[in-house]
Amino acid sequence: FAINMDQLELQDELGKGAYGTVKRVLHRPTKVAMAMKEIRLELDESKLNAILMELDILHRAVHPSIVEFYGAFFIETCVYYCMEFMDAGSLDKLYGVGVPEDVLARIVASMVRGLKFLKDDLQIIHRDVKPTNVLVNMKGQVKLCDFGVSGQLEKSLAKTNIGCQSYMAPERIKGESQNALSTYTVSSDVWSVGLATIEIGLGAYPYPPETYSNVFAQLQAIVHGDPPVLPAKYTETACDWVSKCLVKRPEGRASYAELLEHPFLVNDAGNTVDMAAWVSRAVAWRDKQREKERQAVLAKEAPPP
Ligand code: ADP
Repeated sequence: FAINMDQLELQDELGKGAYGTVKRVLHRPTKVAMAMKEIRLELDESKLNAILMELDILHRAVHPSIVEFYGAFFIETCVYYCMEFMDAGSLDKLYGVGVPEDVLARIVASMVRGLKFLKDDLQIIHRDVKPTNVLVNMKGQVKLCDFGVSGQLEKSLAKTNIGCQSYMAPERIKGESQNALSTYTVSSDVWSVGLATIEIGLGAYPYPPETYSNVFAQLQAIVHGDPPVLPAKYTETACDWVSKCLVKRPEGRASYAELLEHPFLVNDAGNTVDMAAWVSRAVAWRDKQREKERQAVLAKEAPPP
């Protein structure tokens, strides 16, 4: 079925991204709760149609580690993208000061399985692996979203894509390829998986902007410095797994199959991990932080007499 705006009941705002807002919506005909992303694009109708056609492949991206795609449409110059609603939000807000090792293994196992599926079954390379693009629900499921399937959409967004946290592999920063989009290989995503793993374990992005005087220095550190490592509290096995992702030469990095066969993830498959319990704790912690921030803002706006 094709989704359109008339079928949707708009609910609360879930977040603001670099390109637009994400709202929770109810799809009235099916009573399914969805997340709808609005992407503002200054494009003509033919380009918008091209994007919708390219997004169509997402209907085939059905996998337990991938956020389900329900459909997209455009109104005027905005593309609306409807996907599975993940009720615990994105991982970057949930990892706190770092997650326990069994939880870390479960999270990265899901990420790697999702990426392997995209690659093997749909020939899709994610291109934007980072904790903000890993969504979680209260059942304890961990799924990937926001992968690059539409060349046209990517081209239209590229201009505004400047962040201070780079998950780009060294070879992409160095710009060895003339055309970063066409020669991007799967091993660049493996680097990003490694970096995301460290961030989730450490509870912080491993190249903190405050350590570097500017973005250039930060990127220099990624290209010329030693790759980051997990904090000492993690086992040798976990550290070894991450080191297989964070190899500076792209040819030296592990494949998804190798990452799944590594003891870190083989052991995980035999573990019982109460992911739902971890998500509950993480969400409670996140909401408490948010409330504190809200109070701090209120106190600033109206200082006590
Ligand atoms: P970004 O541009 O930083 O990738 P997005 O526009 O993708 O951000 O999303 C902004 C915020 O909206 C996310 O941080 C997340 O909290 C929320 N969000 C996005 N997609 C979903 C979803 N499918 N379910 C629930 N929340 C979502």
